Amino acid sequence: MLRTLRNTSNVSPRVEKQTGVARSDYHSGILRNAITVDVEDYFQVSAFEPHISRNQWNQFPARVEQNTDRILELFDTHGVYGTFFTLGWIAERNPSLIRRIVDSGHELASHGYQHIRIYQQGPQEFRQDVTRTKKLLEDISGCRIQGYRAASFSIRKDTLWAVDILQETDHLYSSSIYPVHHDLYGIPDAPRFPFRHNNGGLLEIPITTVRMLNQNLPIGGGGYFRIYPYGFFRRALQRVNQEEGKPAVFYFHPWEIDPDQPRQSDIGFKARFRHYMNLHKTESRLGQLLADFRWGRVDKVFLR
Ligand SMILES: [Zn+2]
Repeated sequence: MLRTLRNTSNVSPRVEKQTGVARSDYHSGILRNAITVDVEDYFQVSAFEPHISRNQWNQFPARVEQNTDRILELFDTHGVYGTFFTLGWIAERNPSLIRRIVDSGHELASHGYQHIRIYQQGPQEFRQDVTRTKKLLEDISGCRIQGYRAASFSIRKDTLWAVDILQETDHLYSSSIYPVHHDLYGIPDAPRFPFRHNNGGLLEIPITTVRMLNQNLPIGGGGYFRIYPYGFFRRALQRVNQEEGKPAVFYFHPWEIDPDQPRQSDIGFKARFRHYMNLHKTESRLGQLLADFRWGRVDKVFLR
């Protein structure tokens, strides 16, 4: 299958022109940021893990395909190309969606097979997981998979062994570190901008933070994007682009634009707040974000 892999970097000059966008130049200079989507369904998030086991996943009504199609439309409306970090479990069940993602000009990347955080796996299991997922995504899409994002940003200080395995299994980059304090993830003192592990190894592309009050505040998306006022987000990203002169990395999930998803009742206050807050506002906020800044695929922004 690898013989027939398409080079996903071959975006035509016409497409490049489209992504060169206009309005955002005014707001953010000429920098292009990376927009990323973690393609998983609403019942697969880490916060629900204590309540929903993986062998129950098949019992939930799937909504990832319709939600991802809406994201493809939203990106198309704004002339934006992005990177879709996709679960192997989703790809296996939705091969036509995977082909629509790559046929629309987006980068396909790996989010592991079934959303197991790295610190819940040993090295052997992790190697099998990322190898299996990469091959599955390549077989379905015909594209080389270059990037990996760990479930719940689970490359932490205690799981840095995963970096060597990603490199050995032919990944070119990871976007799995969030340099913040958080109860589930994060390396607060990791570099805030792309760096190579072990001085020259795998490229790490951290989720974006802004320095405020002497600490890194998370401004790379997820629940924070739905909870903070949009104006704060925009100013923070402008600061990264204009004052620091660096591209940002932003992420969100298909279920975050789906206020009609089935609700889980027995999950505890914190998980409920993080998961359901402002779902009805997210799609319009995303539209605003896509219009206010320049965006591109991770490989086009960082692998040059
Ligand atoms: Zn995820």
